[in-house]
Amino acid sequence: MSTYDLAVIGGGPGGLAAAMYAGLRGLSVVGFEAESFGGQLINLYPSKPVTNFPAQTELPSRELALRLADQAAHFGAELREWEPVEFVGARDGGFALRSTRGEINAHAVVLALGLGRFAPRRLGLDGEERFVGRGLTYRLPPIEEIVADHAVVVGGGDTALDTALSLQRVTDVTLIHRRDEFSAYKHSQDEAAARGLGVLTNARIIELRGGERLESVVVALADDSVELPADLLLVSIGQVPDLAGVEQWELGISGPHIEVDSAMQTDRRGVFAVGDFAAYPGKVRMIATAVAEGSTATASVERFLMTPN
Ligand SMILES: Cc1cc2nc3c(=O)[nH]c(=O)nc-3n(C[C@H](O)[C@H](O)[C@H](O)COP(=O)(O)OP(=O)(O)OC[C@H]3O[C@@H](n4cnc5c(N)ncnc54)[C@H](O)[C@@H]3O)c2cc1C
Repeated sequence: MSTYDLAVIGGGPGGLAAAMYAGLRGLSVVGFEAESFGGQLINLYPSKPVTNFPAQTELPSRELALRLADQAAHFGAELREWEPVEFVGARDGGFALRSTRGEINAHAVVLALGLGRFAPRRLGLDGEERFVGRGLTYRLPPIEEIVADHAVVVGGGDTALDTALSLQRVTDVTLIHRRDEFSAYKHSQDEAAARGLGVLTNARIIELRGGERLESVVVALADDSVELPADLLLVSIGQVPDLAGVEQWELGISGPHIEVDSAMQTDRRGVFAVGDFAAYPGKVRMIATAVAEGSTATASVERFLMTPN
């Protein structure tokens, strides 16, 4: 089993910065991210221009996230995305981490959990669970695996529009959005118009119908309702963060934050925290703070590794 100087859990700006600074210091470091790298920048506001990050008047959030990940990889961090950490236990004076793909050991841990792991927001309809995996999905499957005659996509952001445009290459698609304006990039909206994508605005699904599998959806419009055939329903209406399970880790976590001192050290030896998950008096939760805390935490990790007892 591999042993690292440092394991960073969470790949938002705080975790990516910690991994980058650890790499710069020559530490062996592995970073785990449950989703794709970027944290809230990717999952909560992927198309927002960030205007308060130093050295750049305006940078799209997705671009900022990608740059942070590239820089961490450039300085030698091993970055693992789509690999949530499920459990962290104490082992031989260090830590054993179990992820969805196996186990590793680490001498120190940086918790960069932010608001938690992101799960897709559900429609909240009766019987929704019954159709999950039976026509209803929250993520676009590989396009070559899609077998559908009538797809319906729900949402108004970039992911929803990109998904609908991708699906349109293999099947008939209707995009449903509860507002009359889309938050997706204008070029995606223009492409949808150019390609004649079927769109219903001011519309929301009120019922899912089918037997073993989804067969149709009932859509409420401004003053009417329609039933659309749907053997594939792709819901893309955002992500909800969740910290469930971390209190069972053997790290003394209770609640949505962990207290740290000015060196980003928690009250457990070898356990550090950064970003939104780390708490101290006067804390400001923003990207630049999370990144700065990554630098402080790795300096502390290096000192800890030199004086382990
Ligand atoms: C709508 C909105 C707009 C914002 N706009 C700005 C802005 O313009 N400028 C600014 O400075 N700040 C902004 N912020 C705040 C900023 O996004 C956060 O302060 C920042 O993302 C915190 O970074 P983080 O790394 O601590 O956490 P996060 O960005 O939350 O990242 C944490 C990561 O940890 C991962 N994770 C959690 N648990 C596990 C696990 N068990 N295993 C593996 N991975 C795990 C999650 O998947 C997530 O990707 C905004 C916040 C919101 C909600």
